[in-house]
Amino acid sequence: MTLDPGEYDISELGPKIKDVEDVDELREILEAEKSGENRAGAIALVESRIEKFSEDDEADVEGIDLSAMSAAEVGNALQRVDDPDELERLLQEESEGEDRGAVKRLVQRRLDAVQGSEESEGEESAVDDRPPEERHPDLSHPTRDKRHVRSLRDGRYRDMWVYCETQAGELASVSREMLGKARELMDGYNDRYAGGGDGGDGDGEDGGEERVVAVLVGDDVRGHADDCIALGADVVVVHEDERLERFQHNPYTEIVADMARAGAEHVEGEVAGGREEAWRDYDKPRYFLFPATNNGRDLSALVQAELDSGLASDCSGLYIEEEVISNPVKTGAAGTKRTFERVLHMKRPDFSGFEYSTILCLDNPRREFHPQGASVIPGSFDVPDPDPERAGVVVDHELELDEAWFRVAVTDHERLDEGVDLSGHDVVVAVGRGIGDDPTRGIELALDLAEAFEDAAVGVSRGIVTGSYAFEPHVEQYAREERQIGETGQVVAPDLYVAAGISGAVQHKVGMDESETVVAVNTDPEARIRDFSDFFVEGDLFEVLPTLTEAVRRGTFAFGAAAEDAAATDGGEVRRPSERPGTDAPTGGEGE
Ligand SMILES: Cc1cc2nc3c(=O)[nH]c(=O)nc-3n(C[C@H](O)[C@H](O)[C@H](O)COP(=O)(O)OP(=O)(O)OC[C@H]3O[C@@H](n4cnc5c(N)ncnc54)[C@H](O)[C@@H]3O)c2cc1C
Repeated sequence: MTLDPGEYDISELGPKIKDVEDVDELREILEAEKSGENRAGAIALVESRIEKFSEDDEADVEGIDLSAMSAAEVGNALQRVDDPDELERLLQEESEGEDRGAVKRLVQRRLDAVQGSEESEGEESAVDDRPPEERHPDLSHPTRDKRHVRSLRDGRYRDMWVYCETQAGELASVSREMLGKARELMDGYNDRYAGGGDGGDGDGEDGGEERVVAVLVGDDVRGHADDCIALGADVVVVHEDERLERFQHNPYTEIVADMARAGAEHVEGEVAGGREEAWRDYDKPRYFLFPATNNGRDLSALVQAELDSGLASDCSGLYIEEEVISNPVKTGAAGTKRTFERVLHMKRPDFSGFEYSTILCLDNPRREFHPQGASVIPGSFDVPDPDPERAGVVVDHELELDEAWFRVAVTDHERLDEGVDLSGHDVVVAVGRGIGDDPTRGIELALDLAEAFEDAAVGVSRGIVTGSYAFEPHVEQYAREERQIGETGQVVAPDLYVAAGISGAVQHKVGMDESETVVAVNTDPEARIRDFSDFFVEGDLFEVLPTLTEAVRRGTFAFGAAAEDAAATDGGEVRRPSERPGTDAPTGGEGE
């Protein structure tokens, strides 16, 4: 085993195991972790890497080597096997080999499921989806009263809604991004589904173009409606009230949920009451996007709960596609498959952005989950070019606001001292967890480099802020949150951004990728930051940073020269991001 997982914390382990492509070795690492520190996060990381290779194996059932697999691994691998003969063979192999009861049961269960689905040819062995109170009347059910079932039966769902947040009177950049993405998604959607034919998701829709609907709520927001239309909205629903000057959970949630349901109640699966609204003929939105800002995170969770649906939070990728599902909770019967059409696939970074999960929000046989909702990390999508010629409809949302919703009154507010302002400098030198071997020295090196420029500041990744590094007092101030760059920190756009020992998680990226020139220093040639760097120095920051500093001091900071110096000193290598290791591309940057 070349890698001892105990030597790394979880965020370091992610990039390290990316170099390991041998499944046996990954399994050894997994065992070492289990018998060592046994960290759930690390185990999940290694397992997902193993799974990736298993998937890459093109579902090669011949490749299932029972003797080398744990019962859990067999369970996962069996999900790809649909051939009863193959399952019979595996059962026999296990009986003649290790003869593990758990493994035999797994294979037998899969065999039953596959044969069951073949034999029944659509005759479903129904899943018991009665509520737990009915299935187990002998048990106490302390949360019985909290059951919150207001979903619809055969509801009508249409359109993609976008909650457009405003900040300090401006349409937030993330709102613009979401409108552009929603336009793109719905254009694709309409090409595929509009004009006839049911998508097969049982929602009763039969084509017709679906729209992008922008939602504006606040004190003085109507002025943004034209912008929303120019950026891709077909309809803008506006609610203005002077009491809505600042975001508050209660009124904002009530308003947005009421907009989405057109004022209706949903009782035992049926629609009750509600307003006739000329611009729409459906019960709830099909999809709903919110910004993953502080307020957007609050609102998205509350509104989606009000609408009795789910939420994929902090997403950075969205697409609409069909999905074949065999989970009996979703299909209604064990051993069957069901194709869900028009599914919003919501991708979100996990494990500090090293892995991505795709979240789906699918109906159950007797319970519909709409809107399919996501909150979107700012910076995930491009802001589209506005088209002032686009036409759209602006609709006023009619709702009497209840005074009780405003029990919390904002009587005064004060803008906190923002502390250090990293924006407006020519150069920002940022360091991340790569300084971990000697954190104080790492910050000192960043300060040295910053001081060598005329106008530079030092910033950090969140990895530094939340890490428990023991800094010496003279550098402690540089590791505080006020210097954090990224989604939950500051956004900078200097002429030169040096990112040393930073992996390039999406949350960091959104704080710096408007920089003119990005230079990354990293020991890992596969670090994600490479994808959005202009120059990538593969090397140890403790050696590369002093060389860069020296070059700046000498006045020879044409970046390429400095980087080549660095490379010469430490054996590191400068690459254009497009040059991958192992290619013959020439090294060395160009002078700026
Ligand atoms: C809701 C949310 C909001 C967030 N907001 C932010 C935010 O605003 N800003 C932010 O930065 N993060 C944010 N994060 C955290 C983010 O996901 C990452 O965890 C974080 O950016 C990782 O910091 P890092 O790159 O310093 O550390 P790591 O991901 O651990 O990367 C360290 C890098 O250093 C390299 N390295 C190691 N040793 C050396 C060496 N000697 N020389 C050179 N390179 C070396 C490694 O190869 C690795 O690439 C947020 C996360 C969430 C969930």
